[in-house]
Amino acid sequence: MRPTCVLQMRNTCAVTTVTTAAVDPVLADAVDVARAAAEAEAPGLVGEHLGVEGEGERLATHRFATRDPAYRGWNWAVTLTRAARAKIATVDEVVLLPGDEALLPPPWVPWHERLRPGDLGVGDLLPTQADDPRLVPGYTATDDDELQAVAFELGLGRARVLSFDGRVDAVERWYAGDNGPEAAIARAAPASCATCGFFVPLAGALRQAFGACANEYAPDDGRVVSVDHGCGGHSEAVVVPASPAPAPPLVDEFRIDVVGGPLGHEPGSVSGDDTAEPFGHS
Ligand code: SF4
Repeated sequence: MRPTCVLQMRNTCAVTTVTTAAVDPVLADAVDVARAAAEAEAPGLVGEHLGVEGEGERLATHRFATRDPAYRGWNWAVTLTRAARAKIATVDEVVLLPGDEALLPPPWVPWHERLRPGDLGVGDLLPTQADDPRLVPGYTATDDDELQAVAFELGLGRARVLSFDGRVDAVERWYAGDNGPEAAIARAAPASCATCGFFVPLAGALRQAFGACANEYAPDDGRVVSVDHGCGGHSEAVVVPASPAPAPPLVDEFRIDVVGGPLGHEPGSVSGDDTAEPFGHS
């Protein structure tokens, strides 16, 4: 009895116990037959014998180390068998298998599990699974054009609509993100979106908690925000008083202002004898 990893997924290993068959003595002794079979596949690259284990009745596998530098840690596995009452081992198959020290790639992950938000680029197509849990059938299409037109009129013109799970996912994602109440800009806001004139509630069940911001000066313009989000662009945060218009200039047409008086010399000149000028100029 030996433990064996039978399921490898996301670094978890479900361990169960399997029975190793007793090794057939004829097959266990046929090391040279197994080595010759491995040498036929890779001449000069078959190393030491690592052991033999039973696979079933008259079925056993010999393992040999490989000397191929490109496959360090891999083993040649040569499976032998024999007919009932026969004393000659025959080769069933020869394969190169990874050992404990083999360099292996990480487990393969399907593309739809590898996708991350933001991976979708211009021109990319993102097929949605037929059984995507985020979606449920919307309405049953009909050949009746009039009925079809009415369905579109009522907003039922989609083959699939958001399921309950899809709504819950969206609500949790939006509420915990940058457009929810815990965002730094929301905590510093003077009031919440619920009382903002730029807040446009969503339709349907989500309108109780979410709407779109329609303030072009707000960082969340055009995005979904929660009712308890907020920002400094709140419509009622600060009402800026209008600036008073400047008064028109007054012109007194009945008086004149005399600028300067008559000078005793030419303007701009001072004679050398004239010591009365206090600052040495006119
Ligand atoms: S301007 Fe600010 S407070 Fe108003 S809806 Fe947009 S994010 Fe909310």
